[in-house]
Amino acid sequence: MTRIVVAGAGMAGLLSAIKLQEAGITDLAVYEKADRLGGTWRENTYPGVACDVPSHLYRYSFAPNPEWSHLFAPGEEIQSYLEDVADRFEVEKYISYDTEIARMEWCDGHWSIETTDGRRDVADFVIAATGVLHHPSYPDIDGLDSFDGALFHSARFDHSVPLEGKRVGIVGTGSTAIQMTGALVGSVGDLHLFQRTAQWILPVPNRPIDEADKAHYREDPTAMQAVRDEMSATFEQNFANAVIDAASEQVQIIQQLCEANLNDTVIDPDLRERLRPTYQAACKRLILSGDFYDAIQRPNAHLVTERIERIEPSGIRTTDGVLHQLDVIVLATGFRVDRFMRPIEVVGRNGVSLDDVWAQRPSAYLAVSIPDFPNLFMLNGPNGPVGNFSLIDVAEHQLSYVMQLMAEVTEGRAAEVSASHQAAERFEADRVEAAKKTIWVTGCRSWYLDDRGIPAAWPWTMTHFRERMARPDLADYDLITR
Ligand code: NAP
Repeated sequence: MTRIVVAGAGMAGLLSAIKLQEAGITDLAVYEKADRLGGTWRENTYPGVACDVPSHLYRYSFAPNPEWSHLFAPGEEIQSYLEDVADRFEVEKYISYDTEIARMEWCDGHWSIETTDGRRDVADFVIAATGVLHHPSYPDIDGLDSFDGALFHSARFDHSVPLEGKRVGIVGTGSTAIQMTGALVGSVGDLHLFQRTAQWILPVPNRPIDEADKAHYREDPTAMQAVRDEMSATFEQNFANAVIDAASEQVQIIQQLCEANLNDTVIDPDLRERLRPTYQAACKRLILSGDFYDAIQRPNAHLVTERIERIEPSGIRTTDGVLHQLDVIVLATGFRVDRFMRPIEVVGRNGVSLDDVWAQRPSAYLAVSIPDFPNLFMLNGPNGPVGNFSLIDVAEHQLSYVMQLMAEVTEGRAAEVSASHQAAERFEADRVEAAKKTIWVTGCRSWYLDDRGIPAAWPWTMTHFRERMARPDLADYDLITR
């Protein structure tokens, strides 16, 4: 019997359990380090958290949801959706909570797995469904530990800290900070937003989906599918395919929409200029928001563009000497994007360590397989379409591809399968070349860029991604028989 271990019970881990069970593979263990499933949506509970992919696209293809409340679902609704899907498809029985994989080693044709609490397992395959943005990045700011008030990262939001009427500082202006600003400005005393780099904002209000539409979707799932397909085509054409071609007309349109949003909405010319980025729209991850500019123009909102010098017991001091007195500081400073399945210690064929292979930067053939790490596959691994599309959709395509590779083993045609070095090198060279055309290299700093300044993401169209994921080219794999 084939035994499969899945690392992580987030969106991709649940998907794996559902699809493997459906394929008759039930010797399955999903190890989850936390005490609840949900991944990103379990960990990110900051006020205003929502997905910036439309809800009807951010759902499993086999579990459409007529109940989404908004165009962009709030985080807790996505968390409930994932819990509901796990329940409906009866996969929670495979999950071991509070169980973190510490180490896995390929030996004698199997993965030998150890958890941090000393448990052991042996698996024919491992699927790393460990997520992308899950290790908070703490900024290197002097005095971080000296603050007298409450200070926490946005992905570790401390809901026990009262915010009503308080002086709250938010560090960062990524999607997280922008969402939080809109959600908090109405209830806190003063909100200080510490901006290191201005952001382009595409004006997309998060409109509620009305009851009549939900009833219609409930009664007629094909109508819901049609809405989904239309959104998918629009999103793909106007965004996903646009960002990979800096010269495209759609990118110019995005630029114009963002400029008009800034020029038409922000009244004070000084504030407007301080909010104006100096790079092209969509170079950094584009922010969708219908309320940020209104929020930052409230009398109790303060945009701070002077650099942070240090954190002191009573607040944040900027380089102009001003001390911004605060009760609470939220670090919306993003994530360490090069971790993937690490800190798991992974040892592949002939004692090769993943930390050594990824010492310079993480990479994977077609984002799913690493040479010398047989029968180990990743969902949403390095070099995938992380910045372009619904990651659920991406994971579904990847899993279907991975299951075809696993069939080479389960149906007896091979004992081990992993990408060949040659294929991985060719893929990387092609990817680096294609990345030169993308909007991500047009002069901004962002988490999409690796240590060389090359985008780590998939630089081709989603159509190309789907084509590559439709069927593995076995010539690109080392298939070893015993
Ligand atoms: P992020 O996009 O990486 O933004 C981090 C912010 O912190 C940036 O503004 C960065 O400034 C700033 N920062 C970092 N270190 C700093 C320092 N030492 N001093 C001052 N500022 C500092 O992180 P995020 O907002 O958490 O978002 C991460 C990703 O998660 C997003 O890009 C998106 O993919 C996803 N996300 C999506 C949603 C959504 O669905 N709407 C919501 C939240 C997150 P610089 O720009 O100058 O580097």
